[in-house]
Amino acid sequence: MKTYIVGNWKMNFTVGESSLYFHKLLQRVKSYRDIEVVVAPSLVALQPLSLQVDRHKIKLAAQNAYFQDFGAYTGEVSVSQIRSLVDYCIIGHSERRHILGETNKDVRKKVAAAVRNGITPIICIGETAEERKNGETTDVIRDQLLSSLSEIAAEDLSKVIIAYEPVWAISTTKSAKMATPDDIKEVLDLIHKLLTKTYGEKTVADTPVLYGGSVKVSNAEAYLSIPGCDGLLIGGASLIAPEFSDIIEIAKQVRA
Ligand code: PEP
Repeated sequence: MKTYIVGNWKMNFTVGESSLYFHKLLQRVKSYRDIEVVVAPSLVALQPLSLQVDRHKIKLAAQNAYFQDFGAYTGEVSVSQIRSLVDYCIIGHSERRHILGETNKDVRKKVAAAVRNGITPIICIGETAEERKNGETTDVIRDQLLSSLSEIAAEDLSKVIIAYEPVWAISTTKSAKMATPDDIKEVLDLIHKLLTKTYGEKTVADTPVLYGGSVKVSNAEAYLSIPGCDGLLIGGASLIAPEFSDIIEIAKQVRA
């Protein structure tokens, strides 16, 4: 299986800045057959970047998309409308769930729409600090994972990516708040166990499971060395070209 290094730019950069930054990244990033590099710029930058992209080096992802294909949904942009621009779409990011009110049902429909349109969903799941404190991590992960996949046929499971992103570990600089490899391994094991129990070992062998939450150059090697971790979803550090390209080099070394 490939190792995935995915940059989530969130709501950063103007269209012009996105284009300049993407140019910088394309110059820095080397292409490796076993490493899939993906960046998710803001929706408005997708079209110009799709003209700039060298898909041997970097693939494009959307950060969100609506599940209906077309119609009276003012302000929304559908998976069908972006499918000529991107290969991937982040779905159910914790900021969408917790700031913008996205539900497990929305996530399920968006995942189904992505697969239907030939786009690989990167499905984000993860517990909040409160849920973790209350011992609800297993229940939250089970609910988010299985409900997001409930419209997906077993034979399509290799067309989705799961990203474990504990909400409490996102965008933190405090080491006490960062997830340790042991914390992460416990949940990655749980995800693999739930997928295997539901779909069977053979079916889930090709479903990548990533980790995301304050990944940077200093911890990328440790996170990528966790058994069952097939890559990283990176927010803040993906906005700094040398940091992002160094993480790709670390992935190459860890997988060598
Ligand atoms: C994210 O938003 O998906 C993320 C992991 O952010 P950060 O790397 O900044 O924690």
